[in-house]
Amino acid sequence: MAKYTVTLIPGDGIGPEVAAATRSVLDATGLEFEWDVQQAGSDALDETGSLLPETTLASIRKNGIGLKGPITTPVGSGFRSVNVGLRQELELYANLRPGRTIKGVQSTFDDIDLVVVRENLEDTYAGVEFDDGTSDAAEIISEINARSKKQVPASAAISIKMITPEGSRRIVEYAFEYARKNGRKKVTAVHKANIMKHTDGLFLEVAQDVATGYPDIEFNDRIVDNMCMQLMQKPDQYDVLVMPNLYGDIVSDLVAGMVGGLGVAPGGNIGTHAAVFEPIHGSAPSHAGKNEANPVAMLLSGALMLRHLGETEAATRVESAVEAVISAGTKVTYDLRADRDPSKAASTTEMAEAIIAEL
Ligand code: NAD
Repeated sequence: MAKYTVTLIPGDGIGPEVAAATRSVLDATGLEFEWDVQQAGSDALDETGSLLPETTLASIRKNGIGLKGPITTPVGSGFRSVNVGLRQELELYANLRPGRTIKGVQSTFDDIDLVVVRENLEDTYAGVEFDDGTSDAAEIISEINARSKKQVPASAAISIKMITPEGSRRIVEYAFEYARKNGRKKVTAVHKANIMKHTDGLFLEVAQDVATGYPDIEFNDRIVDNMCMQLMQKPDQYDVLVMPNLYGDIVSDLVAGMVGGLGVAPGGNIGTHAAVFEPIHGSAPSHAGKNEANPVAMLLSGALMLRHLGETEAATRVESAVEAVISAGTKVTYDLRADRDPSKAASTTEMAEAIIAEL
């Protein structure tokens, strides 16, 4: 029997190609996987009438672990993003976004080794919004104005920022546990508690309290704007960064940019009962079906999944093999070449084969 049954969602666009490359590399580690292939996105919509079918969700719930390729968000209103849907349905509260310099990838910074832990379900992203000019917005504005010294203009659209002690505690605990398990030395809580005293103030208060339970790990906090500046000036002073949803969305992309961008940036969404790993890039439709997309971000997401499963040795082997192929510079996809010349580039499958040879 396979050691791990993993729900594999190839996705669409370049998704099936980078997913196949990832699957072949993970199979070549020697670990035994059973891939429970499931649909989500436009193919699923055509066949089942749902972008995120219940069978796909049930598979992840049963297996507890998923690996997902990118999915095109259909244009037009009424479609909930599959990614947001997955996070909410499976309560995947932690978004894990490591950013590490890979030799041979063009980037402005050297020697970056940061991990952003983003809260995934609360803050301004919970989807509690009221459009301007609606009667709901008008009622809420008049309630607020009756209670608040600061007045909200009647013409405003409203988004609610909500932060709970429970949500803050579990994300900060996740960051500290991650730090402990992965030999990290420091956790920094990122916030804007000087301005948003109640919501971000609560997050910071909980973070300070959680930190007292981890005396082996250094703790500090930074205001988010200062954090961005310091990441540009002295990134070596930081290690694991934990923050509410909106700041996490922005800072995790900042960190991805520091190490070379979309093609090499993995991610994971983790909850109490399930976890889904995925590259942060989209379905890159112009490259779909051409066997030319860069598989590294999905492969590194696969390595993150291995770490999550406790397969640290196999994860390190995959990461080292990826780095060896990128730094050798010959068997890489067009986007990893300085000249971006597709005629000299390796295909997706050739790059995967080169990585397997290095395992
Ligand atoms: P994108 O990430 O697909 O593409 C941005 C740029 O990066 C393009 O130039 C693309 O060609 C390039 N690129 C991205 N990944 C690459 C790879 N692996 N190899 C080589 N080049 C790569 O972003 P977009 O164009 O804004 O979005 C396209 C579609 O993907 C949209 O429908 C969007 O909603 C969806 N999307 C999905 C996810 C997800 O499923 N997690 C994330 C982002 C965007």
